[in-house]
Amino acid sequence: MWQKLCFMTLAEESPGAGAALAERPTATAEAEDDSFAEEVYSLPGGEGVRWCIQCGICSASCPNVARMEYSPRRTIAMIRAGRRNDVLNSNSPWICASCYLCTVRCPRGVKPTELMHALERLSTRYGTHSRRVSTPAMYRAFVNSIKNNGRVHEVGLMMEYYRKTNPISALRMSSVGLGLLRHGRLSLKASKIKGVGQINAMLKKAESLGGAK
Ligand code: SF4
Ligand code: SF4
Repeated sequence: MWQKLCFMTLAEESPGAGAALAERPTATAEAEDDSFAEEVYSLPGGEGVRWCIQCGICSASCPNVARMEYSPRRTIAMIRAGRRNDVLNSNSPWICASCYLCTVRCPRGVKPTELMHALERLSTRYGTHSRRVSTPAMYRAFVNSIKNNGRVHEVGLMMEYYRKTNPISALRMSSVGLGLLRHGRLSLKASKIKGVGQINAMLKKAESLGGAK
């Protein structure tokens, strides 16, 4: 179910302008931030950025590159150039579908998939994530559902997601939702697990260790 929700989110992202957009020149005249690359290297998933030889195999393999503002290869180049704001405002990490094609094909073991996840966490921590994507709202609704119930309540999750993104678009999915309700595949009432407090304690611990809130 969760994977389906992710793909629904992805399908609703405003389409990019094709491959040309993925390789577009950086529009801002952002000053280089030497500390940015070091910060990324220190993150789980970011260490491999050092080893990249800019061969472009990751970008050529990526099924979603046409929707990204910056391809995986270009994202890595921008990190190394210290372009903090451009990277952390980009839609690219959020458009990544975690298919791992780039990672299995990279000749240098860079793991661009893990890098994309690391950049999501970093931009969430700084509150700089792209406003042009709705995936952060989906993640937030997912975490809130876990905090409240200890498990995902699909109806509540989707209501929060659409309320924070585009309530009108919920109408398009209403027939699907009603069908699932009719067949007992969804419940209007959230059921909580025992020990929700323990789940929240674990989440707080993760936040104290540097996880995104
Ligand atoms: S495939 Fe690997 S080495 Fe080549 S550009 Fe992508 S991350 Fe860099
Ligand atoms: S894991 Fe993400 S960045 Fe890598 S090829 Fe798949 S969609 Fe593209």
